[in-house]
Amino acid sequence: MSTPPVTKLRIATCSLAGCFGCHMSLLDVDEALADLIEHIDFDRSPLTDIKHVSETGVDIGLIEGGLCNRDNVDVLREFRSRCKVLVAVGACAMYGGVPALRNGIPVAELIEEAYLGADLLNPQVPLDPELPPLLKQVLPVHEVVPVDYTLAGCPPPAAAFRELIMASIEQRPVVLPEAERRFD
Ligand code: SF4
Repeated sequence: MSTPPVTKLRIATCSLAGCFGCHMSLLDVDEALADLIEHIDFDRSPLTDIKHVSETGVDIGLIEGGLCNRDNVDVLREFRSRCKVLVAVGACAMYGGVPALRNGIPVAELIEEAYLGADLLNPQVPLDPELPPLLKQVLPVHEVVPVDYTLAGCPPPAAAFRELIMASIEQRPVVLPEAERRFD
């Protein structure tokens, strides 16, 4: 009798207004990735360069970064609609993080400072229609779509990513020691 094919957990990852540090931490699981890869398949992710989650959807979506522009909102809504479980990963996705430091400043003032500053050689505001308009404030993920779980940290430690994925494979609760529940 032939062995039934192993059903792998399908995972998608995406970065919005983040620095890719959370993705780097995911890769920091190092050699454990070789074990994990026997049980998971990556769908949309910077790791695969796939730009949209498959229409058939995935089991888990890991989202890094908050939302700073219109494009982030569109990307997040599609991502959410195709992930059974959405995990907001890191301080930017959970609270807006470093990009949200701009939230106390009007957008017009920010643009003026960035593009029309006195020290620039050729000051001008970029007007390419492909550039997505900025939101008035940088938003955390949960203010735009429902979030199922969060993984804290800036970035969350690699061991926390590993535990999240292993617990999902083994269909058990995630167990994180205090040292891996960092909020810094
Ligand atoms: Fe980068 Fe930290 Fe934001 Fe992750 S939480 S995207 S590591 S700034």
